[in-house]
Amino acid sequence: MISFFPNIIFFLTLLINLFLGFAVFLKSPQKLINRLYFLISLGSSLWIGGLLLLNVTPWNLGGRLSFAGALLAIWFFLWFSLEFPFREKEIPLPILLFGNIFTVIFSFIILLSPLVVQKEVINETAFGVVGKFGVLYPAFGIYFLLLMIGGILNLFHKLKTIKKELERKQLEYFLIGSTLTLGLSSATNLILPFFRGIWQYSKLGPLGTIFLLFFTFLAITRYHLFGIEVILTELLVGMIGILLIVQIFTAPTVLWRIVNSGIFILFCIFGYLLIRGVFREIRRREELEKIAQRERALREEAERLAQEFQRLDKVKNQFILTTQHHLRTPLSIIKGYLATILGGIYGEIKNQKINQALKNTLLATQRLITLVNEFLDISQFQLGKGALKKEEINLKDVLNEVACELKPEAEKKKLYLKMIFKAKDLKLKADFQRLKEAFFNLIDNAIKYTQKGGVEIKVESKAPETLLVSIKDTGIGMSKETLSKIFKGLFERGKEAEAVELTGKGIGLFISKTLIDAHGGKIWADSQGPGKGSTFFVELPKK
Ligand code: ADP
Repeated sequence: MISFFPNIIFFLTLLINLFLGFAVFLKSPQKLINRLYFLISLGSSLWIGGLLLLNVTPWNLGGRLSFAGALLAIWFFLWFSLEFPFREKEIPLPILLFGNIFTVIFSFIILLSPLVVQKEVINETAFGVVGKFGVLYPAFGIYFLLLMIGGILNLFHKLKTIKKELERKQLEYFLIGSTLTLGLSSATNLILPFFRGIWQYSKLGPLGTIFLLFFTFLAITRYHLFGIEVILTELLVGMIGILLIVQIFTAPTVLWRIVNSGIFILFCIFGYLLIRGVFREIRRREELEKIAQRERALREEAERLAQEFQRLDKVKNQFILTTQHHLRTPLSIIKGYLATILGGIYGEIKNQKINQALKNTLLATQRLITLVNEFLDISQFQLGKGALKKEEINLKDVLNEVACELKPEAEKKKLYLKMIFKAKDLKLKADFQRLKEAFFNLIDNAIKYTQKGGVEIKVESKAPETLLVSIKDTGIGMSKETLSKIFKGLFERGKEAEAVELTGKGIGLFISKTLIDAHGGKIWADSQGPGKGSTFFVELPKK
């Protein structure tokens, strides 16, 4: 017997290895990765166990057993690397079958023939043992190294593509553990002896499994690997419990028995608390994961809906555009005929009632044409087709023209219409007609929704490059709710407005906003509340 110290560690490593392997297997025997992990544990246990046998018994099959075990372990490691944490591609069945059969046959060859291990021990030191190798030893070495490198590369590759955070952490830990373990064991057991004749550290190889065990353990407890935290804790608590019971019965005196029983009872209480704690932690994590999953699903759904919405919006605009073209022509023809009839081209209309009815029809047709044109403008701008004819214009002219057109309306309601120009330079690069349309809607609204007082239009230069127009009235005002929705879309009307003006359509502001946006400007509104007047602001860049 060479040294006691490594043997004890070998034994413990072997036990923990088997223990972990079984725990993973028992958790979900039907899952492939659990079964593969179990087989890796079995293979490495044979490898460690073989060396242990070689160390502590005169039985001289230990070396062969350990080589065969190592081969099985590395084959299942490669397979595991293809399945864990997810399967990237389907592995063709013939390759799988071939790999399995080849590895098992090779293992039996190692075990039963002198082709790989000819003589178990020809030399031995505290940390190494060397035998005499057979003709297939190089083939074994190459096959082992190929499987090992393949497995590690697979895992590295997956690390790059993995998306789920938890799986990434599990993989990272497993990869660190297995690379350290395989690096140490292949260096001491294969590469150094084979290429440099250094075998004196070969017994350290199996100890390398401690790395894999350690990192797997961390991944299990921290990142829920294999989902066996509870079983693991239960088994550990159970094992320590059994040891404590044995201690009670083997205690030398009654006093010691009582003390040991006390320790056992305390341990049971703490063990129970520990298991319950782990269990709760898992529940909590599972719930968090569920919430995260639901959130992810909702986000995806929202994105899909937004895309669908955009598509439908485009289709709608396209539809409106086409329909309007078809509506406008017949409407213009009707308007033309009505105007000619009323102009007396086809003879005088003697009946006053018919005359009035025709006038009303002409007015209604004109309103319809304006409406269709407004819709056409909106959809053209929304589709990016409404080109602006930008030129150097004076904002004062725009506002004066609007005021001139709306003055009769204000006078009819006995409202003042004030203009204040605070800025000196009112030149802008803009589309005169479009801008006029935008301000017309705003000032028209201000007059329409004001019964007493009036409207004040003010132009200031806000920054060197922008002009700010405010249209302030003393009318019906707006609630917070109205303010929040009027610019959002077509047909949005406030409750206050609906009460005083039944025929409004909720189109004007939308058009103004579309036109101001197209000029690179901003539009917003403010009001102290219903009955307290409103102010609409338009900010326009000069260039
Ligand atoms: P309409 O005036 O036909 O309802 P608009 O698009 O011009 O449509 O205006 C949308 C809504 O914005 C109005 O229904 C009203 O609630 C609110 N609004 C616009 N201008 C004013 C204003 N000067 N005073 C109070 N409310 C206004």
